Amino acid sequence: MTIQAYAAQKAGEKLNPFEFDLDALKPDEVEIEVEYCGICHSDLHMLKNEWGITQYPFVPGHEVIGKVSATGNMVQHLKIGQYVGLGWRARSCSICDQCLSGHQNRCLNGEAVIVGRYGGFANKVRCQAIWAFPLPGNLNIKTAGPLFCGGITVFNPIIQNNIKATDHVAVVGIGGLGHMALKFLNSWGCEVTALSTNPEKEKEARQFGAHNFFNSRNSDILNSLTNKFDMVLVTSNVDLNWDAYINTLRPGCKLHIVGAAHQVNASITPLISFERSIGGSPTGGPATIAKMLDFCSRHNIEPVTEEFPLSEVNDAFEHLESGKARYRIILRNDLGKK
Ligand SMILES: [Zn+2]
Ligand SMILES: [Zn+2]
Repeated sequence: MTIQAYAAQKAGEKLNPFEFDLDALKPDEVEIEVEYCGICHSDLHMLKNEWGITQYPFVPGHEVIGKVSATGNMVQHLKIGQYVGLGWRARSCSICDQCLSGHQNRCLNGEAVIVGRYGGFANKVRCQAIWAFPLPGNLNIKTAGPLFCGGITVFNPIIQNNIKATDHVAVVGIGGLGHMALKFLNSWGCEVTALSTNPEKEKEARQFGAHNFFNSRNSDILNSLTNKFDMVLVTSNVDLNWDAYINTLRPGCKLHIVGAAHQVNASITPLISFERSIGGSPTGGPATIAKMLDFCSRHNIEPVTEEFPLSEVNDAFEHLESGKARYRIILRNDLGKK
């Protein structure tokens, strides 16, 4: 079978039309006919080989929405024509201790959709069937793609840290990840505080669900929030004055990092004295993704997106890199339709 896609031939190069052939579908895989695919910052890091793991030709795309177009002969639970979403993971081994304990997103033998495989900027993409998630009927197929990487990345910490409706949570950085975090946490019932360096985002942050909005450039404001939050969720990808944020945590609570800053420089005493911790997480396991989709369906949560046709993928990447995307970018597959 010949697949049409957009690929970069070298690190940092523009994407161009690219065709490749695939062998027979594996028994535990499904093939998805791509209708929409989000662009994530990880696609940009991978395009430039900033993590040293990119293989070229490189086809990005790991926020896929489309219909199942073929199923391997072991696949019972998905039907041809059914809408599914696919995120970062394409495969997990099912037998390591992480998989067996429900943490398939931490599988050490797994495969990612865009690492050593061709991703979703294509007319078709394949994955192990457990990583293709049926879409609840009321989700908007045009905007649901970003839930599968950006969305689950900020939903997972709510589950991992047992966040309750009575909790106070701060979200640092109001961009692609942060705006979804505000929506989730507001619907979860929390008191939600947005911390941003851009005061122009206040109005929208409040519309997304923030009860409070503070300019995080003002260190007096951060100091006034000492011992306030049950979780501080860092979605920005810049190095912060980490101690100032750690001091806003209540005792026993966690600074949870999902944005790719370079490093954390933090004093030890505020951690030891109040049993605070620092951690991070990648996307989420299949059970958590299913829970997120159910939650979005019930609370009508959808990412705020800007749409480009796939044929203008290079413009879309430039827009992402400019930092002006509001708030996630999705590509509409127009392969063969131009
Ligand atoms: Zn991603
Ligand atoms: Zn595994």
